[in-house]
Amino acid sequence: MMPPAYVRLDLDAVRHNLEQVKRYAPDNKIMAVIKANAYGHGMDRVAAALEQADGFAVARVDEGARLRQAGFEQPITVLQGFVCADELQQLLKYRLAAVIHAPQQIAILQQQPDRAIKLAVWLKLDTGMNRLGFKAHDFAAAYQALLACAAVEQPINLITHFANADDLLDDKTRRQIDLFNDAVKDYPGQRSIANSAGIIGWPSVRSGAAQDRGGDWVRPGLMLYGCSPFAGKTGADFGLKPAMSLHSRLIAVKDLAVGESVGYSGTWTCRSATRLGVVSIGYGDGYHRATRSGAPVLVNGRRVPLIGRVSMDMITVDLNDLPDAQPGDPVTLWGNGLPVEEIARHADTIPYTLLCGITQRVQVM
Ligand SMILES: *Cc1c(COP(=O)(O)O)cnc(C)c1O
Repeated sequence: MMPPAYVRLDLDAVRHNLEQVKRYAPDNKIMAVIKANAYGHGMDRVAAALEQADGFAVARVDEGARLRQAGFEQPITVLQGFVCADELQQLLKYRLAAVIHAPQQIAILQQQPDRAIKLAVWLKLDTGMNRLGFKAHDFAAAYQALLACAAVEQPINLITHFANADDLLDDKTRRQIDLFNDAVKDYPGQRSIANSAGIIGWPSVRSGAAQDRGGDWVRPGLMLYGCSPFAGKTGADFGLKPAMSLHSRLIAVKDLAVGESVGYSGTWTCRSATRLGVVSIGYGDGYHRATRSGAPVLVNGRRVPLIGRVSMDMITVDLNDLPDAQPGDPVTLWGNGLPVEEIARHADTIPYTLLCGITQRVQVM
């Protein structure tokens, strides 16, 4: 028997999506971004499926340490670097590369003695995201300070991050690229700029790949999981396949009369006699509470509309077009045939939050 709510993970789709990244960025090396438990898909299984990637990126030191403990030997970059000397020791112990984005990190590195195994670093330029990174006017000094650190591996690699690459009409991305290329032009290290939106939408960040540096690195996250980083599109528009599908089942079917209202706060009122289905999934599983009435749900593979509020453990759907549906019938909340991008639109959010939001009680199959 299937569990009440479960995720089906399609690792062939993950591998297919990696091939698509290579199609978009044939001259680049690929740092597969598997932070946040591989966007909710399960870090270990996704990392194993991505053995053709050149390396991994995670957000935090503990995520990188877990990957090493699980036996992965590829280069692993920690995108937030470290915040204290203890975390730096963890990075060294597990041979994790660190993004260096702030002066206090360099101050900690300056206290480190020379050592056999040095810390691989990505020095981050803030080109306009205004989150992590050195501003252009501090960048050369940070570079020189790092060069003088005995515990730092040479060459120093160079990284920045896009703020608006999902908006193809915003020339901020162009300015970020130019600012980065100008700041790093005299340095020998490898470069890394592009997230998924950059890889698909901004080809010029790839054409700069320098073969004499072994090819620069792209950092795909979302597209590996089969989703579009661009609003109004789905992964299929870019040759991607969804890696996750979320499933449950009907647990009750009942008939309601005109004028009856459904669920907490009675946000839905029946305008005609309504056959109502109750599905065993809710925000306690990661089905977003903000999802509005009208969002599509697949019952027996057919689309029906969500009606009423999302509860912790249940949602309700209108089965008028599916009068034969019965308790026990299979339900798909997103995945094959129902893009998570579409559900995100109905919840006023982005696919990232839905994928990352899957909770512990959902069994992964
Ligand atoms: C999360 C992240 C990525 C991946 O972004 P996607 O939009 O999922 O492709 C790349 N680089 C950095 C610095 C990130 O934090």
